[in-house]
Amino acid sequence: MRDILEAERRTSDQPRKPGLVYLVGAGPGDPELITVKGLKVIREAGCIVYDRLSSPELLKEAKPGCELIYVGKACHNHTMGQEEINRLLVEKSMEYEKTARLKGGDVYVFGRGGEEGMYLRAHGVPFQVIPGVTSAVAGPACAGIPVTHRGIASGFHVVTAHSQSDQLAEIDFHAMARGKETCIFLMGLGKVGEIAKGLMDAGMPAATDAAVISCAATPRQQVCVSDLEHIAGKVEEAGLVSPAVIVVGKVVGLREKLLFPGSPVRRQS
Ligand code: SAH
Repeated sequence: MRDILEAERRTSDQPRKPGLVYLVGAGPGDPELITVKGLKVIREAGCIVYDRLSSPELLKEAKPGCELIYVGKACHNHTMGQEEINRLLVEKSMEYEKTARLKGGDVYVFGRGGEEGMYLRAHGVPFQVIPGVTSAVAGPACAGIPVTHRGIASGFHVVTAHSQSDQLAEIDFHAMARGKETCIFLMGLGKVGEIAKGLMDAGMPAATDAAVISCAATPRQQVCVSDLEHIAGKVEEAGLVSPAVIVVGKVVGLREKLLFPGSPVRRQS
């Protein structure tokens, strides 16, 4: 008996090994646009640490008793700072065999997934990345806009309109205006006018097609289509809400031919 107790004491004295943390991309909005692997992890995780998601329905897939922790960030109003989130992930890895860190879209597209991965690695916590469908590509697709098209756009730029200084100055509009690639901006709804001006000042024709897709891949999806000169006014008129993707380039003109019935669109303007 004493031997058994002794053995038990020894085991509990040993430092516990951290569980696995999964950095999971939730996809752009439609809960069915998460990957099979991502959904599996959501169903198995003991704890889910999640951001503000376009598809909160996904959380209903969590197993009973799963600890759900919201750490969402509403621009300028961080519920939890990044440092705190990093520490939380390490803490939860000591409590659970599987922790899911669920983020909208893809984890490495402006999702700060890299910072979390590096922090976990530095603290000896194993992690895996489960990529997601990014809104940068899926948002336009759900509005009938392909980000590349043979003979029209041979690539695309994906740029954030948000910066620490809240200025757009860091964007290389000249590089974007020079090429034939599609220009995609995330986190830019409040700056559509500035973005359009930046591109036009850099030499992009005012008549270049532009679209803004709000709440893509959800039943609330709304799309505004215009040209660079008028897009900001149209967006304001339509009262589009965040989150939204801005797309600039000839590919926007293909949407008449590529809109599809399954595209969950409530209103087009
Ligand atoms: N990791 C995410 C992007 C995070 S940054 C991804 O890969 O999609 C947040 C920005 O993503 C928003 O400001 C918006 O520009 C865009 N976004 C996310 N979900 C969106 C949606 N359903 N519709 C339109 N834009 C979306």
